[in-house]
Amino acid sequence: MKTAKVISVTLFIVLFGIAIYFISAHFGRTVIEEILGYFSPCAYPITYRIGSVDSRFGISEKEFENTIEKAVLIWEEAAHKNLFELQNNGALAINLVYDYRQEATERLENIGVIINNSQEGYADLEKKYESVITEYGWRKTELDQLVSNYNERKKSYELDVTRWNSRDTRLTNKNEQGTLRQEFERLNNEKSRLLADADIIEKKQKELNELVNNINALVDAMNNLARELNLSVSTYNKIGETRGQEFQEGVYKSNVTGKEIDIYEFDSPTRLLRVLTHEFGHALGLPHVDNPKAIMYELNQAMNEKLAPEDLIALKNRCGIHE
Ligand SMILES: [Zn+2]
Repeated sequence: MKTAKVISVTLFIVLFGIAIYFISAHFGRTVIEEILGYFSPCAYPITYRIGSVDSRFGISEKEFENTIEKAVLIWEEAAHKNLFELQNNGALAINLVYDYRQEATERLENIGVIINNSQEGYADLEKKYESVITEYGWRKTELDQLVSNYNERKKSYELDVTRWNSRDTRLTNKNEQGTLRQEFERLNNEKSRLLADADIIEKKQKELNELVNNINALVDAMNNLARELNLSVSTYNKIGETRGQEFQEGVYKSNVTGKEIDIYEFDSPTRLLRVLTHEFGHALGLPHVDNPKAIMYELNQAMNEKLAPEDLIALKNRCGIHE
């Protein structure tokens, strides 16, 4: 009897161990960390790994890793605790995902537009939009004029060439030869001029296309910002429920397939650090806070790289730190 009991207990422990092993092997450490994190937040570090880093951001994996480390330190120094740990098979994947948002950000940066996530920022974009639309208007008029001139001259050139080709080659006294040579030279010159004009038109067409792309990027940015600003009003009373939706540059996702932080855009190292720190905050389970300068504010609109008092309170509440 006693032996049977020992065997069954041993068997249970072994099976339980195998089950845990399979769960953790299958899901990385996600499930176990989820369970531990649920029962005692901040007691065990969240393991993370660098996921995919799109090279189009122009930042090396090493630089990305360094910025992530800085973001981690911001929380750890405040908590006096090891909250995150870099591991090859860490549960939380951190990705730099290149999409139209970064493309738009870069395009606007190239024409000197830095997006400021605020009502004033939106007004700035609108002003820029008006001025670019005006520029587009006169450039388009200028180009249309050039093209219509070009087409007329080309048509008359082609008529002259046809006439030239069907000329009567039998009439060739000295005088006529001179006139023919002059006409031949004139046609050749006109051809060179037309080719040069075609180049100019092509160049201006390209500039105009660039301008259209800039207009589209501006419209994109304005739409995003409008959405963000409206969202900040409509979600004001539902702090915590909308995590990841509002800091448009990045998102923290957690589901059965795993946990990840996706960063979509940033226009400066500070913005990247802030969005990473913000999403790490969500990974810890922190809600949004009210101070617009705070890291955990729902909009990434300040430039400070330090936690605000509201961030600290949220962290201490979540982690059960009493000082
Ligand atoms: Zn958020």
